[in-house]
Amino acid sequence: MRAAVLEAFGAPMPVRELALREPAEHEVLVRTVAAPFCSTDWLGWRAMRGKTPPVVLGHTALGVVERRDGGARGYGVGDLVVVAGTPQCDECFYCGIGRPDQCALLFESPEPVLATDDAGRPVRAAGGVGAYAELIVADRNQVWPLDSSLPATHLSLLGCGITTGHGAIVNVAEVRPGASVAVVGLGHLGQWCVQAARVAGAGRIIGVDLLAGRRTTAAALGATDVVDPTEHDPVEQVRSLTGGRGADVVVEAAGPEQAVQQAVAMSRRAGTVVLTGVQWAQGRVSLPQNAIAIHGRRILSCQNGQSVMSRDLARCVALMESGEYAAGPIVTAVYALDQINEALFASGEFRDLSGVITAFR
Ligand SMILES: [Zn+2]
Ligand SMILES: [Zn+2]
Repeated sequence: MRAAVLEAFGAPMPVRELALREPAEHEVLVRTVAAPFCSTDWLGWRAMRGKTPPVVLGHTALGVVERRDGGARGYGVGDLVVVAGTPQCDECFYCGIGRPDQCALLFESPEPVLATDDAGRPVRAAGGVGAYAELIVADRNQVWPLDSSLPATHLSLLGCGITTGHGAIVNVAEVRPGASVAVVGLGHLGQWCVQAARVAGAGRIIGVDLLAGRRTTAAALGATDVVDPTEHDPVEQVRSLTGGRGADVVVEAAGPEQAVQQAVAMSRRAGTVVLTGVQWAQGRVSLPQNAIAIHGRRILSCQNGQSVMSRDLARCVALMESGEYAAGPIVTAVYALDQINEALFASGEFRDLSGVITAFR
């Protein structure tokens, strides 16, 4: 099968023929239909996320089940499925406490070997997916059936950006009607947070981003106000839009340390701050002690929006079907697998919100 392989950090990824390994009984063979190029993969390509080459990037996809041997999970050969970046094994400690975002399959096992290359080297699959490839061998615990006739490019965003943005607002921040919500960073994740905040009934939705085009998209998707941080101190701008207090909820969806610091400073006392952004795997953030220890803020982590895919996937699909969640403005380009490096640079240079790979042969 053909796959784009990260062979050396920072170098263009060649498309290679790989010898795919046989799926085990607990795994499913999926033919990739659409795979979004995620900004996380740009970081992985730059050696910021602890990947080990050779590796096939791409941690989520839409596909069709090609083969499966193991027990039931509600889908069979020929069915349309989402291969999600985060598994839900329903057996580990974390799944048992209702927190599959921390599933042991994701955090306590090494990235599996997917295939071997021409030189006989083992090639790993990022996040147990390796979506920039014709075929995916995924654990059955990260494969979910889908019943929707929406465009494949739109549905392909369900296993990462949509469920994470929806979950950040609904599951983690628990945004209430009328709340003020600021979103720092209007990349693909921030745009889903804006939409989810609108659907949750937020009163004021403030989008913060350096790029004018991204602010315009956010305004079209539900932001009531947009803030250009180069114009004037963004913390003061958000405070002045929220009665001088700061926002009830701030979602940080950018990554740099300064964005995290600003997100905390933009929240009101006893407000909620949701941290979704990452950059370096070993990155550190320093925060003012009074703001986090004395002023009553809830500072919350947000892996995969604390989604429970067995519950949240259908909700997100329904919101897409009804038009409440719009993927059209977020899918800014489509690519063939052979154009993987174009997708890579368009993501890294902030030209795409989500580019989607749709042709694999
Ligand atoms: Zn992603
Ligand atoms: Zn689990």
